[in-house]
Amino acid sequence: MDDAMMTWDEIETAQARRREVRLTLADLYKCGNCGGTGHIAQFSHVSGGSCFKCSGSGRTQPRAKRDLAVFRALETELFDLEASLGAHNAAVDALNAPLPDLDTLDLSALLTPVSD
Ligand SMILES: [Zn+2]
Repeated sequence: MDDAMMTWDEIETAQARRREVRLTLADLYKCGNCGGTGHIAQFSHVSGGSCFKCSGSGRTQPRAKRDLAVFRALETELFDLEASLGAHNAAVDALNAPLPDLDTLDLSALLTPVSD
């Protein structure tokens, strides 16, 4: 078995953690002015209500030093989780790769001539 292969439990744990990290990151990014929607209904008469703080994207970069450290740690963790899951998928793909066509395969090397 390939080292990159993960068990079902490991995959489930990694995927659950990835979901959690993504949500936490999304929350850290969320614009505090519009709550992440990118729009402010009360200002719909100004530029269609597009949030001026995040330019309508709903996201801002975390600014507080503490948030930034958390953010970097989470991004690193997410990167590692993606790498592990990606390596697992690649190992599974390699296992599932189609076998070479037997008609074009040269089997002569496997055959030892019978001599007596
Ligand atoms: Zn905003």
